[in-house]
Amino acid sequence: MNIYADRGNLLLLQQRCAWRGIGFQLTGAGLGEAIDPDAHDLFYMGGGQDRDQALCAQDLVDTKREALHAAAARGAVILGVCGGYQLLGHSYEVGDDVLPGVGLLDLKTVRDDSARLIGNVAIEVDLDATGARVVAGFENHGGHTHLAPGQQPLGRVLKGFGNTGASGAEGAVRGTVIGTYIHGPLLPKNAWLADWLTRRALALDTPLEPLDDALEDAAHASARRAAGV
Ligand code: GLN
Repeated sequence: MNIYADRGNLLLLQQRCAWRGIGFQLTGAGLGEAIDPDAHDLFYMGGGQDRDQALCAQDLVDTKREALHAAAARGAVILGVCGGYQLLGHSYEVGDDVLPGVGLLDLKTVRDDSARLIGNVAIEVDLDATGARVVAGFENHGGHTHLAPGQQPLGRVLKGFGNTGASGAEGAVRGTVIGTYIHGPLLPKNAWLADWLTRRALALDTPLEPLDDALEDAAHASARRAAGV
């Protein structure tokens, strides 16, 4: 799925790898196509409207669920944004329909008649307990995501709505599986997070080569300003 330029996340990962001389290969997996859990370092699902999710949720469970669990178990990074995030949980209820999720994150999402959660958003995250960083962007979702007890959120909402608009939590993280409602796209506005994902995906314990991030820093600052943080 791809909405609000979520494919831009892939372009950013690709370009930063190219600048650093890290090999990058992109493989798509469409409806009915199985995925090889051992062939990739990072798996990614962008956002989508309910209609798009209804088209791919069952396929995700039938043809990709097992491989995604195997990939997560060996430490591959799995990133889901918005509709993709929702499908990383157990289920997405929309009216009388219940779309299945792959169950990599211990959460479920419910869409009822309440207002959509729309606007600029900023959250504080501390992924390795090495100091809080800000992720900023844009959210637009009807689904409210409820984390099971013990499921760690990705971050704490500084501005915006996050998972429910009331819990103060945004996104979810479990090992190398990460879900968030933040578009923007997410990574061009938060290049530090892209580098964190790249290091985890490649299991590097050394820092990545620094890049000239003047434009990326400006994009991040602009997203934070828009959110009022
Ligand atoms: N369809 C989902 C919702 O509205 C996700 C939307 C999105 O990916 N922006 O909750």
